[in-house]
Amino acid sequence: MDLILPQDINYSCQGCGKCCSGWSVGMTMADYANVKDTDWQSLHPALAGKTLFLDRQAEFEAGTSQYPFFTNPTQDNVCPFLIDDLCFIHGLLGADKKPMACQIFPYAFAETPAGVYAGVYYSSKAAVRNMGVPLSEQRQVFQEYLELSYKYHNERHTNFSVDAVEGTKKTPFDTIALTPACQLTWQEYSHFENRAMQLIKEQYVDQKPEGYQGDIFRTLAMLSELVLIARNIKTAGADLSQLAQYQPTNKIPADTTMSSVEHMTLRMLFYRYYIYPQVRAKDARQGRQKRADSLKSQNLMGTLMAFGKFAGGGLDTIVSGKPNIENLGKVDLEKAMDAPFAAIDPEITILFHRWLYLKLFLKTYFGPAAAGFSVLSGINNITAALLCVILHGKASAMAAGKNSLLLPQAYENLWRLDRELLTLSQIAQQESRIYNSGLSAPRLFNKGIHALEKSFQKQ
Ligand code: SF4
Repeated sequence: MDLILPQDINYSCQGCGKCCSGWSVGMTMADYANVKDTDWQSLHPALAGKTLFLDRQAEFEAGTSQYPFFTNPTQDNVCPFLIDDLCFIHGLLGADKKPMACQIFPYAFAETPAGVYAGVYYSSKAAVRNMGVPLSEQRQVFQEYLELSYKYHNERHTNFSVDAVEGTKKTPFDTIALTPACQLTWQEYSHFENRAMQLIKEQYVDQKPEGYQGDIFRTLAMLSELVLIARNIKTAGADLSQLAQYQPTNKIPADTTMSSVEHMTLRMLFYRYYIYPQVRAKDARQGRQKRADSLKSQNLMGTLMAFGKFAGGGLDTIVSGKPNIENLGKVDLEKAMDAPFAAIDPEITILFHRWLYLKLFLKTYFGPAAAGFSVLSGINNITAALLCVILHGKASAMAAGKNSLLLPQAYENLWRLDRELLTLSQIAQQESRIYNSGLSAPRLFNKGIHALEKSFQKQ
């Protein structure tokens, strides 16, 4: 099968070790077999006396856990095997004995009828900064990781298997939900994606040219409009190839006051992507408890306290619009939305477009990698996600007494966001149905896009 690589995207591991924090790494039975017979505790003081792996075999068998084992992060939420910024498993047993997810990360693949699209997730600090060798020059590396990916997915629990499996005739992209009620063939979807990629590429450039005037708000508004037009064409029984000639109007609404639905949905996603992870990290001990154990008398108080923090953080963000952000304190999302800011730095605009380009190229914004979202819900989700990145960036700048978005903060916010987007592939079906239907209104964030746009000076 053809391996299709993106243009102007770079990545090489910089050895920062940041990919090894913030989550428990899921392990297959084969992963666990590779490490289970080593007496880790006796090999390094940092490992002594620690529970290094979490056994979730019962939940895995019951279909409520994606993996039978997980690594057990430290209280700082870092993998216990990360010692002096190096993987101790890798050092002792070799790279091929690390959990398969670690071996492959951040490389990613999407098997489609047209070939295997390949790229990287931005939940790597080097990837989000576009550091390293162009992916287009790493074909051999991708071939090797693709083989590993096939092996890995064959070993995963089928209830949760989200990617194509070698040898099967169907890929996850043979049929695509444009909306929850409107299905497309791959060929039909390609017309949408080609036009959407064209619109993004007009503003995504590798090197900033003289007089660059990219506009992320315009791109987001055009993408939203394009999905709506695609749906109308399909519903009318017409040919989606006409999207190639379609020029989005990007009509700015006279009134950019967001509806309460738009407000609440945006705040809910802000909570999901930026507040929930910090609450979860603080309660890592709680999060790692087996679900069935959380109501035992000795754990009940901890469970109730954790619930209170989750609920409190949710109310602050969703109802009041005043989340408490780590290292920033309480921020007011409404004020951040309206605060007049300098024009967005072209480097940041290029970064946002590069992120969008990769999301569409890799097809990680909808379908198996994104909670089973339809294309419409996926576009709404990444639109809202970028609005959240910008809102977070504004709030951070305001806290520092500045009125312009800062590139390092944009990197950090996109990196954090992508880590959460990655976890969408693991949420339960019921939760994914709720997200999918909540995000399936066409042009859901149209007013939010333009309201935020108005707060920035033009180039
Ligand atoms: S097992 Fe090794 S590579 Fe994987 S997260 Fe832990 S330290 Fe990092």
